[in-house]
Amino acid sequence: MKPLEIAVAGAGPAGLAAALLLGRQGHRVTLFERFAEPQPIGSGLMLQPTGLSVMAALGLLETAIARGRIIRRLEGRDAKSLRRVLDIAYGDGGAGRFGLAIHRHALFDILFDAARAEGLSVETDFDCDRTESAGPAIRLVSSRGVRSARFDLVVDASGARSRLRAAIAGASEPRPLPYGAIWTSVAFAGETAGDTLVQRYRRASTMIGVLPLGRPSGDGEEKAALFFSLKPGDNEALRAAGYPAFCERIAGSFPEAASLFARAKGFEAFTFARYGHHTVATPVGERLVLIGDAAHSASPQLGQGANMALLDAAALAAALEVAADPATAITDYAARRRPHLRVFQALSALFTPVYQSDSRVLPFLRDSLVPVLAGIPPLPTLLGQIVCGTLVDPFPRAGIVEPDWRRRT
Ligand SMILES: Cc1cc2nc3c(=O)[nH]c(=O)nc-3n(C[C@H](O)[C@H](O)[C@H](O)COP(=O)(O)OP(=O)(O)OC[C@H]3O[C@@H](n4cnc5c(N)ncnc54)[C@H](O)[C@@H]3O)c2cc1C
Repeated sequence: MKPLEIAVAGAGPAGLAAALLLGRQGHRVTLFERFAEPQPIGSGLMLQPTGLSVMAALGLLETAIARGRIIRRLEGRDAKSLRRVLDIAYGDGGAGRFGLAIHRHALFDILFDAARAEGLSVETDFDCDRTESAGPAIRLVSSRGVRSARFDLVVDASGARSRLRAAIAGASEPRPLPYGAIWTSVAFAGETAGDTLVQRYRRASTMIGVLPLGRPSGDGEEKAALFFSLKPGDNEALRAAGYPAFCERIAGSFPEAASLFARAKGFEAFTFARYGHHTVATPVGERLVLIGDAAHSASPQLGQGANMALLDAAALAAALEVAADPATAITDYAARRRPHLRVFQALSALFTPVYQSDSRVLPFLRDSLVPVLAGIPPLPTLLGQIVCGTLVDPFPRAGIVEPDWRRRT
């Protein structure tokens, strides 16, 4: 295919990775971002072996590792009995595999710096509102009515609240989930195990977590992400009761995390994140393709969203590499991602209420069955592969090869 003029809407993980990969294929890429200064919102996230493989394909794996924290285990306990009700080792999902906890700012910096270094054009302060057909081409129109240049293809990577998605007939919108969470990051001095995501639960209505994040600024202090699950409607009452009362609650359920939460000093340090779930069955329109959260979103319980966004970017690039024209390429991209997405969106919908809901039955079953079943083969392997994102192998269809992780361990 001859080089295309491509607009990428949104400078999140999906948009930045797509812009880099498509630019390297020789296409002329312009990245549009709503913020005047592109910036990520939120605290930390987990890159799984899937997302890490895309970072490796981009040549950015070691830079990411230097600014994150290698995670080898996920451990969750019932706050009262301290019984382990989540215990998953990455190594069980495949030899040498691991996750990487990384601050959103660090991941953004790494991808954005690479985009700048490779000379990609970036148009900031452009809030993409809709697309408009322009003869054989397409344009973006901002919420202020500004029209972009013409493009052969628009890649919508503007996240779960995409407005460009409306141009695709029948595209689903995220269904709000009952629980979200408040998140922050604080200095970390080894209060919990440095290679483990640790969670404490009371039923499924309280979930407190600590995720070590390494050194997000490269050489600064070690950080950890803290999170506490919360219904949107309870946010105000929690704040009204005051931060000291909240810290006491944390100390009662997760004593090791009490000093970390105290370090945050107040609710002002936290961001409230709402969660939603949707999957656009056919994320493809006229010269328009959806990737990342614009195409599918889920609660972060399985920690797959950013990884699927990165895989989408890789699969789109792989499809454009072999197709004769953009329309064939974007249909092929959707087909490449479908099997993996279907399984992981279903698993996320299945597991989320077990850890975040008002149900009494699901956490009861979790607390009774998981400690017994979790050690019986092949469950550890299956759980490991779910967390790694590899229960359905996404690599060949995304056109990338998973590194041999054993060489790093
Ligand atoms: C609290 C929380 C924790 C999470 N933890 C994990 C985790 O551990 N692991 C994991 O894999 N995933 C996690 N996720 C999910 C993950 O953050 C998302 O799946 C991922 O960020 C999606 O990437 P994206 O690039 O598609 O969208 P986004 O990251 O949402 O990026 C969208 C970009 O588009 C820009 N934009 C938005 N609207 C417009 C517009 N109209 N015009 C122009 N630009 C626009 C935004 O400013 C942003 O830069 C978590 C999510 C949350 C909320």
